[in-house]
Amino acid sequence: MAELTTDIQYLKGIGPQRAKALGKLGIATLRDLISWFPRRYEDRRETRRIADLVPGESACVAAMVAAPPTTAHIRKGMDLVKVRAVDETGVLDVTFFNQLWLKNDLVAGETYYFYGKAEGNLLRRTMAGPIVEREDRREVTGRIVPIYPLTAGLSQLVLSRSIRQGLDQCADILPDVLPDEVRRAHQLCRIGYAYENIHFPESEEALSLARRRLAFEELFLFTIGLRQLRRRREVLHVPPCGAVDMEVFYAALPFSLTGAQRRCIDEALADMSSGTPMNRLCQGDVGSGKTMVAAACAYFAVKNRRQAALMAPTEILAQQHYGGLAPLLEPLGVRCALLTGSTPARAKRDIGARLAAGEIDFIIGTHALITGSVEYADLGLVITDEQHRFGVAQRTALAAKGLHPHTLVMSATPIPRTLALILYGDLDVSVIDQLPPGRRPIETYAVPGSYRPRIYAFLEKLIGQGRQAYIVCPMVEENDELPDERKAVTEYAKQLQEQVFPRLRVSFVHGRMKPKEKDAVMAAFAAGEADILVSTTVIEVGVDVPNAAVMVIENAERFGLSQLHQLRGRVGRGGHQSYCILISDNQSEETRARLRVMTRTTDGFRIAEEDLRLRGPGDFFGQRQHGLPGLKIADLGIDTALLREAQEAAEDLLSRDPGLIAHPATAERAAVLLRQNEDSMN
Ligand code: ADP
Ligand code: MG
Repeated sequence: MAELTTDIQYLKGIGPQRAKALGKLGIATLRDLISWFPRRYEDRRETRRIADLVPGESACVAAMVAAPPTTAHIRKGMDLVKVRAVDETGVLDVTFFNQLWLKNDLVAGETYYFYGKAEGNLLRRTMAGPIVEREDRREVTGRIVPIYPLTAGLSQLVLSRSIRQGLDQCADILPDVLPDEVRRAHQLCRIGYAYENIHFPESEEALSLARRRLAFEELFLFTIGLRQLRRRREVLHVPPCGAVDMEVFYAALPFSLTGAQRRCIDEALADMSSGTPMNRLCQGDVGSGKTMVAAACAYFAVKNRRQAALMAPTEILAQQHYGGLAPLLEPLGVRCALLTGSTPARAKRDIGARLAAGEIDFIIGTHALITGSVEYADLGLVITDEQHRFGVAQRTALAAKGLHPHTLVMSATPIPRTLALILYGDLDVSVIDQLPPGRRPIETYAVPGSYRPRIYAFLEKLIGQGRQAYIVCPMVEENDELPDERKAVTEYAKQLQEQVFPRLRVSFVHGRMKPKEKDAVMAAFAAGEADILVSTTVIEVGVDVPNAAVMVIENAERFGLSQLHQLRGRVGRGGHQSYCILISDNQSEETRARLRVMTRTTDGFRIAEEDLRLRGPGDFFGQRQHGLPGLKIADLGIDTALLREAQEAAEDLLSRDPGLIAHPATAERAAVLLRQNEDSMN
């Protein structure tokens, strides 16, 4: 008898060859097979009459083959089978490509079901390459049909037949990991029904019940796993930090901290004083002042005689942090140092020796901080800035340099709370939801490309007043091929320099440059050696150029709102009134609605919520290294209510049975799910 762990090649009706094809999708076991969920469905239940076919729409017709099919050999590798079919309302001419066997299979006088896109006109209906099935052997017509993600060498039919085989063989062995009382309390269907109907739905209602049940289960298990992860950390004991007179630090600052900064600092200090390792995310919009939160925590750790490290994703950011923090902290007795890839070898050795000897209290740097040879005397606090730029491996590598050090990650990507819960599950979250006083909101405009002359004149005027500008250049995809960013940026910069701004200094930066080159260009721009910086989105990371007052974004429709917000955050960092100009010729209602959000608010969290509503969660996870936890079926964009329900159910169960003693299957699935997703989690 089959088990969920059975290798699919031993399943009835599958065999080694199909198993190999399925293996390319990562399907190895019976469980993998039945958990390969459809990407979408096609409703092929309705049968139309030929006269009712609408050109351009897919539909199913039942029609009798009127005459034996004919064949035609058009060119090498292209054979056609043509057949005329009729019903009482009209004639349908059907063409098949490279399916020569149909010549014999389609018998005149018999009725078949054809499903495909109708073409032609009122007088002559046609279908090219439809699915055809005999009246008495309908499999993929006359029902709601699942459409699966595929790979080369595998067809929808083969895949759905394999899944059918799989389902038939595990009907009785599917364990229900949802405790019965949870299932009933939340009106969730049984597991067998759910699997059956997610693949082969009887009706729309059945499909939606199945989906709801499986999504709930996934979110429920995930929550349980995360809670257990947290418990593992909470039982670790580290020496609690003692009280420190923070007023000394606050008094040294050139400004007073905002209430939100103070609250985040207090939360972090409380963590460090608690006796278990801190694992906190400090989330704050661009310009909200996260660096000072980091500095306060470092000061606190150092005064507790521990070392602190701050890791930034780029050399220039690390330099900026060092340049800002060392003059502040050194007079307070914190010995600071900068360590990056371009630190000369001798200085590196020297810093390494002092770190190991405990003669450096606060080290600021890049990945150089985690190279194998760097050792710390007693690393007590690890801070990573712009955390989405780091892979988990890099963050854990730094943490591994100490013994359960406290960790603080800082992010400017505003994640809606609902998502933060699942994405950062094991992290405590502090939010800096307030900007330092005196900031002037960035004026934002969405305009069509025809405004370019006016925009250029505006840039010229501001630059004449001493400001600088960023331009995110257009990037168009041709024939589905990814755009060549190097070419796009260099050509656009050249054109601007030669034809539009001959008297200004235009520089450029793109992601294909070496990190060193990139940093050099950014540093030169920060030093005021260029007026305009043309780039792709590489400028997204938090470099501070207070003098930059305009951000122009071409093809603004290409970006998610959160990304636009990040880009916009590059300006408005000094005292100057700043502007963001979004250029787009895309007139679709959706694009206009999205860009309108940008012109109306500068609140990153509101923008993130809007983005989630308009585009779904892909944008938050898309290119980010932390990735979406491997949710197979739940969609965080639409299942937020379900997420809350599942979380409550999970908390409720854990409060009654913390060790899941009575629910071993639930505990085990949660652990497996978590293990599979460890890479994408913090
Ligand atoms: P981000 O959160 O984007 O990392 P930064 O820490 O770089 O923000 O701070 C942005 C700017 O605001 C810096 O120039 C910083 O000195 C300044 N700043 C931070 N906190 C305050 C404050 N409480 N009052 C005034 N200015 C502040
Ligand atoms: Mg920052």
